[in-house]
Amino acid sequence: MNQSGQLGGAMTTIAENLRAIRATIPDTVRLLAVSKTFPAAAIRAAYGEGVRDFGESRIQEAIAKQAELADLTDIQWHFIGHLQSNKAQKALTHFDWIHTCDHLALAQRLDRLAAPLEKSPRILLQVKPCPDPDKYGWPLESLGEDLPALAQCQHLNIQGLMTILPLSLTSGEIRQAFQATQAAAAQIQGQFSPALKMTELSMGMSGDYPLAVEAGATMIRIGRGIFGDRPPFPPPT
Ligand SMILES: *Cc1c(COP(=O)(O)O)cnc(C)c1O
Repeated sequence: MNQSGQLGGAMTTIAENLRAIRATIPDTVRLLAVSKTFPAAAIRAAYGEGVRDFGESRIQEAIAKQAELADLTDIQWHFIGHLQSNKAQKALTHFDWIHTCDHLALAQRLDRLAAPLEKSPRILLQVKPCPDPDKYGWPLESLGEDLPALAQCQHLNIQGLMTILPLSLTSGEIRQAFQATQAAAAQIQGQFSPALKMTELSMGMSGDYPLAVEAGATMIRIGRGIFGDRPPFPPPT
């Protein structure tokens, strides 16, 4: 097996994929390369093409890659996986952004743990614009109840909303769901200022990012569209 030859091919593809995606999105949209399951070498290749934002969904896997990539000091690491409360401390210390704050008790725990930190990550609130028993997050219609308590979380740097849509939607439903998320953020904006900012919208993945950008996404999270098909996760350790 020619290892370096294989990696060389993958790097060309990463560069081409990035060029194609960038050609279709405005410069103002932050492109997150979702590098979960891909090796540090793939991250380094995307970094070489100018990507500075990387999304990971498992803490241990991310920490191992961060150690390998310690020389790339201007990477922004984004946590996009489900955050268990016993991992909250690690998420705070190893990431610049946490996209998946998905219920009030977790927000309050993150707030307590962030209090002594010099620099705490920016936080997004994960919401569900349509019913989805398989996903975490606030149903859009119930986020309002928790906003006053979220605004009390003084050590959290809340920046906006994040959503992951169910896989089975039609493009009409996807568009509607992204628009509803954008409208919710716009409605909240200013109500709890400056504690709660609503300027960031993390939505859109490989399959649906054009619709997300159209609806006002400020960050899109793309894995397969940059790195190719994902190898399966190893079993959790
Ligand atoms: C894996 C993942 C992505 C990227 O998905 P692709 O289909 O590979 O683009 C985006 N967001 C979250 C939360 C993910 O877990």
